[in-house]
Amino acid sequence: MFNPSLFLALALVLQAPAPVSLHNAFNGQQAYAYTAQVAGFGERWPGSPGHQKTRDLINQVLKKNGAQIELDDFTANTPRGPIQVHNIVGKFNVTADPKQPIFILAGHYDTLFKPGFIGANDGASSTAILLSFADALAKQKTKMQIWLMWTDLEEAIESFVGDDGLYGSRHFAQKLRGDGRFSRVRGFFLLDMIGDKDLSVCREINSTSALHSSIEQAAKSLGYGKYFFQHECNIIDDHKSFLDAGIPAVDVVDAEFGRMGPNFDGMGEFHHANTDTIDKVSRTSLEIVGRTILNTVEFLDK
Ligand SMILES: [Zn+2]
Repeated sequence: MFNPSLFLALALVLQAPAPVSLHNAFNGQQAYAYTAQVAGFGERWPGSPGHQKTRDLINQVLKKNGAQIELDDFTANTPRGPIQVHNIVGKFNVTADPKQPIFILAGHYDTLFKPGFIGANDGASSTAILLSFADALAKQKTKMQIWLMWTDLEEAIESFVGDDGLYGSRHFAQKLRGDGRFSRVRGFFLLDMIGDKDLSVCREINSTSALHSSIEQAAKSLGYGKYFFQHECNIIDDHKSFLDAGIPAVDVVDAEFGRMGPNFDGMGEFHHANTDTIDKVSRTSLEIVGRTILNTVEFLDK
């Protein structure tokens, strides 16, 4: 028996595109291309030509995707003297509702002040995954306002002691606290060093555990459970500025970059080393983290 109308219906079902969703709108190949482009700008410490090129690219991608842009520019007092700092925030799905909840996805775009250091993973991967989030958010609506934040001068000038480091995030979090917007922020995810080929996102112990659970659930539903929270870590990173301001926050960080051991940096052999180059970055890792984080946003948006 052959029923042409049934056959047609079946053919339409088979041809139907995958259900549209925010996480399916994430393009890992493009995220990798952005990482290579940003790493190709070279050193990106505040004031360097590579830093300016990165700012230009972020603004260009945000404008192309129709985001509202908030610039947070200020002068930081550092052990190196005054430094001009430029945080960039791109806002998606902004409605007229003054109580619309806000969720922030962030990553730092500066690199260490170190000759020859280009930070393909530490700096470029977080910059790039946010650029790909911008591309995805332009395609798919959310109820919450989603802010993508490129933090500046995350890296310490000397070491993460006292107020050295986290300059951009601290300034912006305190600004939110000061003008009352912090009460609308449901959460903050920081992405850092998530391009590592040997991906293992640790359970950062100062982060908000309820949000860890949401990420865990979102990862498992995509079959990515094994890449998340298999071990604990204790990291000072931009999420600290938001936790200090009373905002729930998670550091989504792979804190083991290359071989570990007494002869290496505490975060692995390629951490803050000039060997942090594009060959250490994996398209698949960017895709796993990107899809998981956007899937988490979908869960939280319900
Ligand atoms: Zn770093």
